[in-house]
Amino acid sequence: MRLSALKNKLISDKTLVSIALVTALSACSSTGDKLVDNVANSDMAYVDASQQLTSSDYSKKSGGVAPIRQHGLIMQYADLHFTVLPDTKSLVVKSKLKLTSAKPTTAVSVDLDRVFQIDRVMVNGSVLPASNYSNPNGELQLNLLSEVSGEFEVQIDYQGKPREAIRAPWDGGFDWKKTKSGEYWIATAVHGEGCDLFWPCIDQPYGEVQNMDIKITVPDNLVAASNGVLMNVSSNNGQKTFHWQTSSLHNTYAIALNIGPYDVLESTYKSVFGNDIPVSFYHLKENTDKSKVLFEEIPPMLDFFETVIGPYPFGTEKMGVAETPHLGMEHQTINAYGNNYRKDEFGYDWLLHHEFAHEWFGNQLTNNNWDHMWLHEGFGSYMQPLYTQYLHGDMAYKAHLFKQRIGLINKFPIVSNKPLAVEEVYNRKVGPGNDIYAKGSLILHSLRELIGDEAFFDATRQLVYGTTKPVPGNFAPRFSDTNEFISIVNNITGENLQWFFDVYIYQAMLPELIMERTEQSLTLRWQIENNRPFPIPLDVSINGKVQTLILDEPKTIEVSRKDVVIVDPLSKVLRHQENIERYKAYLKAQREMKMAEFNKKIKKAEK
Ligand SMILES: [Zn+2]
Repeated sequence: MRLSALKNKLISDKTLVSIALVTALSACSSTGDKLVDNVANSDMAYVDASQQLTSSDYSKKSGGVAPIRQHGLIMQYADLHFTVLPDTKSLVVKSKLKLTSAKPTTAVSVDLDRVFQIDRVMVNGSVLPASNYSNPNGELQLNLLSEVSGEFEVQIDYQGKPREAIRAPWDGGFDWKKTKSGEYWIATAVHGEGCDLFWPCIDQPYGEVQNMDIKITVPDNLVAASNGVLMNVSSNNGQKTFHWQTSSLHNTYAIALNIGPYDVLESTYKSVFGNDIPVSFYHLKENTDKSKVLFEEIPPMLDFFETVIGPYPFGTEKMGVAETPHLGMEHQTINAYGNNYRKDEFGYDWLLHHEFAHEWFGNQLTNNNWDHMWLHEGFGSYMQPLYTQYLHGDMAYKAHLFKQRIGLINKFPIVSNKPLAVEEVYNRKVGPGNDIYAKGSLILHSLRELIGDEAFFDATRQLVYGTTKPVPGNFAPRFSDTNEFISIVNNITGENLQWFFDVYIYQAMLPELIMERTEQSLTLRWQIENNRPFPIPLDVSINGKVQTLILDEPKTIEVSRKDVVIVDPLSKVLRHQENIERYKAYLKAQREMKMAEFNKKIKKAEK
């Protein structure tokens, strides 16, 4: 709804509109500042719910093929001022974007959910007539009055109710919750749907913005935690504004608002590379004791990542955590944590560790297309068993990996080598789903066993930092993909390991080892989808003596009934295992039986 239409709507509906608000709307239609202040200070629901559009499919997807108006368009800078109105679950936003166009053009667009009404658009300081922009499906299309080339500035003022998360963080948006004490507790989670659910952006992995100012105005009993560095907090008329500033490329979906009655735990971590890193944990006041215990887990986690992988990438900003009403998300420099301070047998909070791993795998290294999401989630998931090994040794490491092994699906390849939206990767009905996590992790375990620790961690560093010798200051956030990772592995090992990735990454089915044992012999061969070569070294232990075979063709070894034979005794090679398939089938049958019993009871109760 346009401003004048909104005003008419408010009046014609005989809504309880205060004279002050009507005056504000009339007087300030061309002065955005005052309008925001006046609307923000009123508690009324100023957008008629029946008029509100819902998010389009375009807005609910992130990535995929970019619209033509965004070709050659880069966002360099964004200044976003959100006034958050919890009573009406709505936002009033003023945004200023610095964009660069690679070619002269008058037709550009940014992504912004159509649930918002656009109050005003300005281009290079001049108002763009309302007839020159439209947002029918979440792509806010601007027809500029004159051609732009190189850098130009767009200001967009908008307001409305952002999409409410249905089941954050999986079905995302704004998560409007309350704490036990009844105070507002709000978080954004837009990993699947993208940044455009609440701010104007280029909703693609490459849409990362170099510098951002994020200002969040909230009722003054609340605290707003966000990305980067807290520049200042100002108070005005029962509200507080928290001004955050980022100075590194931030993942678009990692820009996050976290709002609640927070207290903050703060410390400085002395990096193993010598620099000081501020650490902040915004937690609910009611969880102070538990959060202090969790806060103590952060320095050893940082020690692990810095010694095993490399420098914490955003040390000049902060290592940050905010307690959220949803499980968690890798929000750069302000990781969402909602694991309820659970403990497990491995002795650390896996969720905190996993989200933290994404600072390296996801935020420092970002895939150039969501098709390569396993670089975020596979590495991100491998870091937990690896940390378990670092803390407790091999028994815990392999126990952790075996837990991951149970969940593999193997229905779609991990990577399909075409531009994909997030949903097409995460939805197991059309893509690899959970396999980008657990299967990715187990593939990395097998790769590490194949090429050895030195090559594995050098390749990992080269992928993450663009150098095998990263130190603070000699790297910046970078983009990569599976093909580059394969080249890195080949360069570092001096071998061509394409076959390894062809079988594990580009095909769905796991290699199956066919074993035939007779009274005198054991014959081994690989059964591989599409009969691809799979020359992986395979250990076979006979009475404790290990020999290593390459099964480029079926191999037969002499063994008698009395020999103790263990194939792959150290579990190096990820492969199809019938025992696991049978167990999974059993679990599935149990679930279905329970569901049938449950449905029966419901039917009986209904009668
Ligand atoms: Zn993850």
